[in-house]
Amino acid sequence: MTGASGVGKGTIRHAAIPDLGEIHYSISATTRLRREGEVDGVDYHFLDRSAFRALLERDALLEHAEYVGDYYGTPAAPVDAALSAGHDVLLEIELEGARQVREKRPEAVMLFIAPPSVAELERRLRGRGTDGEAKIQRRLERARKELRAVREFDYLIVNDSLDAAVTAFKAVVRAERLRASRLGDEAEAALLRAT
Ligand code: 5GP
Repeated sequence: MTGASGVGKGTIRHAAIPDLGEIHYSISATTRLRREGEVDGVDYHFLDRSAFRALLERDALLEHAEYVGDYYGTPAAPVDAALSAGHDVLLEIELEGARQVREKRPEAVMLFIAPPSVAELERRLRGRGTDGEAKIQRRLERARKELRAVREFDYLIVNDSLDAAVTAFKAVVRAERLRASRLGDEAEAALLRAT
């Protein structure tokens, strides 16, 4: 799931996941400072730069990227463990990281969440009140750049109405779970036995 900060990815996730069964949310590592209300180990693993570098050196990240002056990355081990347990995994990551995941895991589903307009995104970022003017401008610039890559994605949801966005998100997950090509060997054998 990719989309500018402030576009509502977290809100959509929180509203949709209770209806979707087993989905493992991947907690990213970041060097960004913790915002008020964020909890270490829940929203992110907040690390200093040397700890982040150590993860990179150990090749412990599935993907990583720099975003507006900070580093963000997906710890690989929890993703692998959840997938092996048969769970779906949700990553909330920016464009560069999403491209790395697509390279490494071509079966990944790429979903883009767009704001109704960049002006609306600006209003939301300001309303959040967590970033200074320079950071807001850099985040908006990055958001425009990501929007230009929207056709690289499998699905696009414009977060105009939250209810509609949540419904669309759930529809994508449910449809993807029904893809015949995702049927495992055991499930296929069971299906054949039953017919
Ligand atoms: P924020 O600072 O607003 O929490 O996140 C900034 C951007 O970094 C957002 O687009 C968010 O989706 C992205 N991001 C969060 N975690 C990761 C990650 O693990 N990897 C990558 N590549 N981007 C991430």
